[in-house]
Amino acid sequence: MADIEKLVIIGSGPAGWTAAIYAARASLKPLVLAGDGVNRERMPGGQLMFTTEVENFPGFVHGIDGQKMMGVMQQQAERFGTRVLQNYVTRVDFKTRPFKVWHLNDLSGVAETGVATHAVIVATGASANYIGLESEKKFENNGVSACAVCDGALPRFRNNPVVVVGGGDSAVEEGTYLTKFASIVYLVHRRDTLRASKIMAQRALSNSKIKPVWNSVVEEVLGTEEAGVTAVRVKNIKTNATSVIECRGMFAAIGHTPNTAFLKDHLVLDVKGYVTLPHPFRSLTSVEGVFAAGDCADPFYRQAITAAGMGCRAAIDAERWLAQQGIH
Ligand code: NAP
Repeated sequence: MADIEKLVIIGSGPAGWTAAIYAARASLKPLVLAGDGVNRERMPGGQLMFTTEVENFPGFVHGIDGQKMMGVMQQQAERFGTRVLQNYVTRVDFKTRPFKVWHLNDLSGVAETGVATHAVIVATGASANYIGLESEKKFENNGVSACAVCDGALPRFRNNPVVVVGGGDSAVEEGTYLTKFASIVYLVHRRDTLRASKIMAQRALSNSKIKPVWNSVVEEVLGTEEAGVTAVRVKNIKTNATSVIECRGMFAAIGHTPNTAFLKDHLVLDVKGYVTLPHPFRSLTSVEGVFAAGDCADPFYRQAITAAGMGCRAAIDAERWLAQQGIH
């Protein structure tokens, strides 16, 4: 391994780029390992690369395309001296210092390389779970979404029926949110009771625009390339009866999986795999010198703006910790 880096940032969503902007401005010359783009989880830019319009990030009066936003953040980070490799991190060693991080690019054939670093910010994000249907994949960004807050206000859903799949807090929250735009929200859930907290479940079930479809799973998303989603076929798992629900969109709200599998022997993670942050309002992890930011450490808010804020915290924490070690 060559020289020791001061700071390696793993991940390139709003948390990673914000951390990079702050760290670069503090002269730390961070190295961002952005992902190699082999699949969704390894996509440089993270989840926002799959979002059409971001309308709720302050500063963009008319919204901004998710991909464009990530490009602009990267440029801003690079302007202050951030170095970027479009490589994917395969493994880490946080047991001894300096830490070690191994990365590769399967797409362009760059073999696994190790880098030694004094500090690390983990900003690997989380991936929304999808049902796993072929047809669901086909209509992604064309009526299928996993984020009502990101996509719910799009014209295609306005005054039209939509389907939300799931029975947890996310499903009822997304369903309730979508009632602002949609004519009716079908809540398709595989059981006959909701997992969601009582108050949120009650609020959803008493909303006249939400119609639960119990004991049911979506079997196929229907539509055309031009029109996008036009309906879903659902199966009642008690009776095996199938039916078609006409709708312009299907929102999967069946949980998220943090992209942290490669960290499990090195950082304390919670039962769902989110990085545990033991100190409230801080970015410190279970390992001194390793910090975490964004959706990989946030099972609750999962917004671009909260991830960016966490990235800022992590860079400030890293800079101060490095200074304490005599590294500037
Ligand atoms: P969750 O609580 O794990 O619920 C996931 C839901 O999706 C469950 O109803 C589950 O069904 C269903 N599901 C899972 N896999 C499925 C599949 N393949 N096909 C169909 N349905 C499937 O996840 P979440 O709702 O995202 O919530 C995650 C955490 O964030 C929770 O702790 C929640 O309280 C919290 N949260 C809080 C708020 C809030 O308070 N404002 C908002 C959102 C989330 P089963 O019920 O049958 O397992």
